[in-house]
Amino acid sequence: MALRGVLYGGREAFTKRLDNAILICLPAIGTLAFPIWLTQGAFGWIEISAFMIGYAVIGLGITVGLHRHFTHRSFEANRILRFCLAAAAAMACQGSLPRWIADHRRHHALSDVTGDPHSPWVDGRGRSLSGLGGFFHAHFGWMFDDATTDMSVFGADLKDDRLVMFFGSTHWLWFGLNFAVPWLYGFLLGGASHAMGCLLFAGCFRTFLFHHATWSVNSVCHLTGKVRFRQKNRSRNNYLVAILTFGEGCHNNHHRFPRSAFHGLGPGEPDMSGALVRLLERLGLVSEVIRPSTHGVR
Ligand SMILES: [Zn+2]
Ligand SMILES: [Zn+2]
Repeated sequence: MALRGVLYGGREAFTKRLDNAILICLPAIGTLAFPIWLTQGAFGWIEISAFMIGYAVIGLGITVGLHRHFTHRSFEANRILRFCLAAAAAMACQGSLPRWIADHRRHHALSDVTGDPHSPWVDGRGRSLSGLGGFFHAHFGWMFDDATTDMSVFGADLKDDRLVMFFGSTHWLWFGLNFAVPWLYGFLLGGASHAMGCLLFAGCFRTFLFHHATWSVNSVCHLTGKVRFRQKNRSRNNYLVAILTFGEGCHNNHHRFPRSAFHGLGPGEPDMSGALVRLLERLGLVSEVIRPSTHGVR
């Protein structure tokens, strides 16, 4: 089966599976170790504050940075802000930035039809899915199938973006920093015991939780929630997922206006990322912000 933009098997599939195994398993192992460590270790505001800061940094790095700016070009930003957004996103343990961008573009191009990397309705080979099997495929199973995105189709332009390519080639360094920074935070504020608590709770568990929050956009938001705009795809607005992902759960709105910097389009649609973009725009730090009303103009 040949489909433009999708590759099957080969070295790409092997690398994808290995990368995802490391990216997913290490935080999960640390998460399992946390309750064991907790029986002897100290736990308090140092760990909680490290968790909250870290969740906001990687969360907004993914939503405002990697998704809305680097993938959809919802707004323009200066070089320093672009670097900060890319660094925050790279620390979310979601793999190489160019790969993430290309996978996501493929999702928009082929939503819920053959070739979609992560639909709960069709697998990587175009076979129909439903129920729990579909949920698990969209949630994380797709990261271990043999389909990969052809970068020459969905990421050819990224070669010209030196910043994106830099973060693509150094993503393991940022993966390490994602755990080293909370460890250091805990060590400086509370010594060796809090360093370990911060590593396990604010490093591993926080990454594990945001992994599942992000994956829920792919699984839950194509299964259950409100359909505000009828479209060919099966995207939905799920407001619980939107709270956990700073607005990305307003996914039906996003499929309708993919380039909009704002996913929450009305009262009761949580979109902290959109609020941050609005604030950055007021401060003069971002420009050319795409809104649903101007969508498609550029
Ligand atoms: Zn979608
Ligand atoms: Zn998108």
